[in-house]
Amino acid sequence: MGKIKIAFFDAKEYDKQSFINSNENNEFEILYFETRLSEDTCKLAEGCDVVCVFVNDDVNRAVIDNLKQMGVKLIALRCAGYNNVDIEYAYGKIHVVRVPAYSPYAVAEHAMALLLTSIRRIHKAYIRTKDFNFSLNGLTGFDLHGKTVGVIGTGKIGRIFIDICKGFGMNVIAYDKFPAKDLEIEYESLDEVWKRSDIISLHCPLTDENRHMINSETISKMKKGVVIINTSRGALIDSDALVEGIKARHVGAACLDVYEEESNVFFHDYSNHIVNDDTLARLISMPNVIVTSHQAFLTNEALTNIADTTLDNVREFFEKDTCTNEVCYKCPNLNNCKQTHEKKCF
Ligand code: NAD
Repeated sequence: MGKIKIAFFDAKEYDKQSFINSNENNEFEILYFETRLSEDTCKLAEGCDVVCVFVNDDVNRAVIDNLKQMGVKLIALRCAGYNNVDIEYAYGKIHVVRVPAYSPYAVAEHAMALLLTSIRRIHKAYIRTKDFNFSLNGLTGFDLHGKTVGVIGTGKIGRIFIDICKGFGMNVIAYDKFPAKDLEIEYESLDEVWKRSDIISLHCPLTDENRHMINSETISKMKKGVVIINTSRGALIDSDALVEGIKARHVGAACLDVYEEESNVFFHDYSNHIVNDDTLARLISMPNVIVTSHQAFLTNEALTNIADTTLDNVREFFEKDTCTNEVCYKCPNLNNCKQTHEKKCF
């Protein structure tokens, strides 16, 4: 086989640079496209062996059919989550690989950065002192020490976030669909986490089952003044219910690195446009909401790991029988997936 050809969609300067570094000996031919992968753009992958995609590329049934027809063998996600790929439909047609971990520290640290910024009003103070306004009115925060944080999802990122919170002297309770046996964590039911937490941080994947797990009903079960952090996936939260919860002064603050309709706006500069998304505009207008544009992963360490692991995934797929980081719809239930035998999923 000649040089493996990769169509790289949604290319930004920062990830292009990290892939150029990882591919410094030009082992792979990488075609960088700024556009996202969609039904309209997938023809750009003509003649390529691999498409490399990110969180907001829409890898639906039609795209998968088109890619297969063009001879694409592999969809290489350069991220951990794969909710934007119809993996059930891809099964048996095109293999899907991902980067399961690139820097869980980056995401966990960003979650804490958002929390501290929010509760200590750093975002307000920064703007004030830039304008030589040294008044402290309205900047009163609260101590994290002694507060209870509820962590939903105790995987790689959740565990690090828990350690960080423990360092602050916080009490940690957690919910996980598959609780870890090796962790000294107080696992509780979801209802108990909603009820007891001063702060709730989401670190689980988005699935059909937990879409809108934070909604008007679950918000009503939470403590008044609760701070909600989401660095996981936007659709875990019903954004309209969140707006209502904040307007009712029930939710004390929201720290959002992800948003359910983010694919329409995130990663682009709309500073000279009127944004059509009223819910997002309302959230951003609120003084106790901080929105970052899905940047929790964005550290030098993470970008290097993403590029190295993605190219390792591609190399392994074409050179070996194994495919360490493959995902298929059977994988979450490992009993049904050949991955347990370290083979390709199909
Ligand atoms: P992980 O697979 O290591 O851990 C996920 C945990 O969630 C596991 O312990 C799993 O048992 C648990 N879980 C699965 N389904 C659940 C459910 N319905 N309810 C509660 N818990 C459930 O994943 P990770 O590396 O810790 O990443 C967590 C999430 O963070 C990813 O799914 C991704 O969506 C998000 N993420 C965001 C960014 C960012 O830049 N904002 C970057 C990387 C990952």
